[in-house]
Amino acid sequence: MNTSSPSLQQIRTLDQSDPLAAKRDEFVLPSNTIYLNGNSLGPLTRGAQRRGHEVIEQQWGKDLIASWNQHAWIDLPFTSAQKIAPLLGADASQLVCCDSVSINLLKLLSTCLQLQRPRTIILSQEDNFPTDLYVAQGLQSMLGPGLCQLKTVAADELIGALDENIAVLFLTEVNFRNGDRHDIQQLTALAQNKGILVIWDLSHSTGVLPLHLDDWAVDFAVGCGYKYLNGGPGAPAFIYANKRHHERIEQPIQGWMGHKDPFAFDPSYKKGLGVAQFLTGTPAIVSLAILDSALDVFSDIEITTIYGKATALSELFLGLIKDADVLQELKLESSADPSLRGAQLAFSHSDAYGICRALNEAGVVVDFRSPDIIRFGFSPLFLRFEDIWLATQMLMKTLEDKTYLAEKYSRKLKVT
Ligand SMILES: *Cc1c(COP(=O)(O)O)cnc(C)c1O
Repeated sequence: MNTSSPSLQQIRTLDQSDPLAAKRDEFVLPSNTIYLNGNSLGPLTRGAQRRGHEVIEQQWGKDLIASWNQHAWIDLPFTSAQKIAPLLGADASQLVCCDSVSINLLKLLSTCLQLQRPRTIILSQEDNFPTDLYVAQGLQSMLGPGLCQLKTVAADELIGALDENIAVLFLTEVNFRNGDRHDIQQLTALAQNKGILVIWDLSHSTGVLPLHLDDWAVDFAVGCGYKYLNGGPGAPAFIYANKRHHERIEQPIQGWMGHKDPFAFDPSYKKGLGVAQFLTGTPAIVSLAILDSALDVFSDIEITTIYGKATALSELFLGLIKDADVLQELKLESSADPSLRGAQLAFSHSDAYGICRALNEAGVVVDFRSPDIIRFGFSPLFLRFEDIWLATQMLMKTLEDKTYLAEKYSRKLKVT
């Protein structure tokens, strides 16, 4: 989008030649809604909808406990993870789906501290996603400063802070607020040169950005099931543990599902092989089955195609608004260089909350991030280029008419 903005006609030709255009039909989408929030809660797929009915009505409803074997419920943490493996550039033997990102981070941070003794420092970024920092702070309180200290620095101070005292570098690839993206390969190599292990949080990356965890020799990673993977609200997360660590992993949230033989009912814990020991209690089968089916939409497409479209969508968005007068008020907080950002755009505005509410009411679903950010997420499997045109039209109209100043938008809802 270099010179003049493209016309709606030109934009429709982009949809006609889009290799992912047919994927939209695999989603259940409400009418009159442009959903720029697939980065927060991915929409329902038709496959997941059918599977939800099947797992509740047939499997749980009729087959009951026999389903653990008959419908292979017991294997779902691994069979679902196999479908994520190609998106991560990872051999599937290093992946398991379980629990939430937060819980999995506790397991991985503890594992790393144990592997790295006598090093005690967790190095992270001061504006990492809050739950990531909270988990590290909780571990520090529990273990005490003699065993665990969280150190946080600004993004541009990370490289300078890598030294031989650091046990683990703990980062999120894509910043949830402004979309800034780290270079995983470079930071992993720099950290490992100092004997530091890395944990990457891939919550805003998985399913949209190309990843090569095995080639990059990443130690550990986690990611979210309900964002670009469309696994449904509270879907299980995943853990990646590079196989070179499998022999030595020890995680503290030991439960029977991580025991090497859960049905031996052994009174003492003996860890399962490899990533199996990251399981703790009984998996949330309904959620896991839904995630498993949602992942099928990725089975016949390349992540590079998905990423290419995500970039084209966000560049189109910027191209369509760049000349509008009202946009003087909006400040782009994301990098203008698409290779330096994730699949989102963030803008700041002093009335960001009201603008988000007004847009949502007009059918353009975006989200607000405190204190003043409007976030647009570009999940490419169901968005059309034409949707971007409609969304930018609505954004410009909202700013022009100042509908966002209405009293009803001033009070914050519980979930923003
Ligand atoms: C969405 C997100 C999470 C979510 O954590 P849960 O424990 O699964 O709720 C964690 N970290 C990051 C970076 C996220 O974007």
